[in-house]
This record gives sequence, C-alpha cells and structure tokens, in this order.
Amino acid sequence: MDSPAVSSIHFHNAHVLPEPDLFMHTPGGNRIPAHATILASASPVLENVIASNRVVKIHGVPDGAVTAFVAFLYSSRCTEEDMDKYGIHLLALSHVYSVPQLKQRCIKGLAQRLSTENVVDVLQLSRLCDAPDLYLKCVKLLRNRFKAVKETEGWKFLESHDPWLELDVLRLMGELEKRKRRVRKWREEERLYVQLSEAMECLEHICTEGCTEVGPYEVEVGRQKTPCSKFATCQGLQVLIRHLGTCNRKLKGGCLRCKRMWQLFRLHSSICLCQNSCKVPLCRQIRLKMEQENMKDDARWKLLVRKVASAKALSSLALPKRKLDQS
Ligand SMILES: [Zn+2]
Ligand SMILES: [Zn+2]
Ligand SMILES: [Zn+2]
Repeated sequence: MDSPAVSSIHFHNAHVLPEPDLFMHTPGGNRIPAHATILASASPVLENVIASNRVVKIHGVPDGAVTAFVAFLYSSRCTEEDMDKYGIHLLALSHVYSVPQLKQRCIKGLAQRLSTENVVDVLQLSRLCDAPDLYLKCVKLLRNRFKAVKETEGWKFLESHDPWLELDVLRLMGELEKRKRRVRKWREEERLYVQLSEAMECLEHICTEGCTEVGPYEVEVGRQKTPCSKFATCQGLQVLIRHLGTCNRKLKGGCLRCKRMWQLFRLHSSICLCQNSCKVPLCRQIRLKMEQENMKDDARWKLLVRKVASAKALSSLALPKRKLDQS
C-alpha cells in the first residue's frame, strides 16, 4: 500500500532515502513501507522491535492513526486534521512507543480539543499514558460542566466499570473546589488591604489639605470643592470623622462607628512615615499608647499593618494594580 503519509515522505526525501526496508502492519491489514533507521532513531521501543523483526505490527488503533504516527516519525509533524481525528490514538501510540515529542504535541492538541463528549475518554487515556497535566485539565472541565458530563455515555461507562478512576476524579474535583475557595478568600483579604490602604491615603489627605466636608483648622473646606480622586472612600471617612466629634456615646470608646474610626487612627499611627510632621490628629500619642500596650506584639495586628503598609506603598508608587477579580 502506498499511504499518503509515506508517499509524501518519498516526495520530500527521494534523493536521500534508500528503498524502504520494512513494513508497518496496520490493524486493518494494510502495510506501510518504512525505513528501519528512521523508526529506530525516532523511537527506542521500535528500535528494539526492529532489532529482531522486520515486520512491525501495530494494534488497537485505526489505520489512519498508524499512517499519521509514521508520518510524525518521519517529519516530526502532525496535521491539525490528524489531531482532530486521531489525537487520542496518537497519544496512546506516542506513549507505548516512547516518542516524547509526539506525546507533548498530543497533550497540547487534546487539551485544546477537550469537550463534554470526549473528556472521559481523554481522562482515562491521560491516566494510562501518564500525562498528569492533561488529566488535571480533564478534571477541571468535569468540575465546570459536571451536570452535562454526568449524562454522557462515557461517564456512565466509567461509573460502572472504573470505580477507582471515578473516585479519584471526584476527590480531585473536591480539592479543586477547596483551592478555589482558598483563592477567593485570599483575594477578599487582598481587597480589604487595598481598601484600608486607600482609607489611609484619604485620612492623610483629609487631615493635610482637607476635602469637601472635613479638613484641618487652617484650611477652609466647602461643598463647592471638587471631589478628590478617591471620593467614595474619602466621603465615607469624612462622615466617620464628623460622627466621632458629635457622637453622644463617648463612654467605653463610643459606638461601633466610633470604634471603627479609632481603629483607622491606630492603623494610621502604625504605618505613618511622617513621624513628627504628621497632620493626622493624635498620630504620635496613639503610637506611644500602642507601644505602652504592646499592641505591636499582636500577630494579627502586625500582619494587618504590614499588608496595608505594603498595599499603600504599592499604590503610591503607582505600580499597575493587579487585577483582583481575575479568576
Ligand atoms: Zn477627599
Ligand atoms: Zn459613635
Ligand atoms: Zn501620622
């Protein structure tokens, strides 16, 4: 048989290659002529087979997959069309015959072609062929589209024939879910640090130049002033500061809003870099008081201070902010 793959090989290499000296036998009964030296140099497994036998029999895949396999051994290339049709078989062949280049190509190609319909097949094969990255991709797709996958023949087959694999997949899906939750929590914390650092900037800005409703004694504030760039935060802070001056529940540090404002003052004192020239009220006094109370030994407070300080440093350096809601 003169397969398209080999005839194209002849076309490219006619002037270099001698006559083929062996045949690859396909499951469909076709024979593909090939060169022992080329097969041996592309695959150590084939090298062993050829050493004792001039006939190489390939089992368990469609004939077209064998042709595509041989074509890859000659050219190190695989067409997208072959990947569409035979990606799964080529992955199996690359694993069995130990052709790492083709294996990488298949892992990439199959990952791009993963679908609800083929995910269970690819999953099983990626486990058999020791392709953990592809396996994990399958599990991720399963997690995202589990409802649809559960209805496929593939999954039903898996349920009744490979309970261990099913179990492993369910376990991994659980772990992915947990990791997703951890990442979400971490992002929420990061967002809080960024908000707090913004509040710190606004506090300094209100106490030095003044904003629409609150400012230092010597600065005239007024509603006609144009709102500052962080007005959403700044406005909330101004409301809190005004409240602090008028709250009638002064005992025990005041109401919840007062406590929140005092917390922000404390945070400011912990990260303030201006020391004596600072315009924020009680900045120095609060710092001294905290030192007396050993508040700096509180690990959670220390962490908060460090995170807010670094978030503030980052934003004042005007570095591009990481996209917080990117998933
Ligand atoms: Zn402002
Ligand atoms: Zn209050
Ligand atoms: Zn200060």
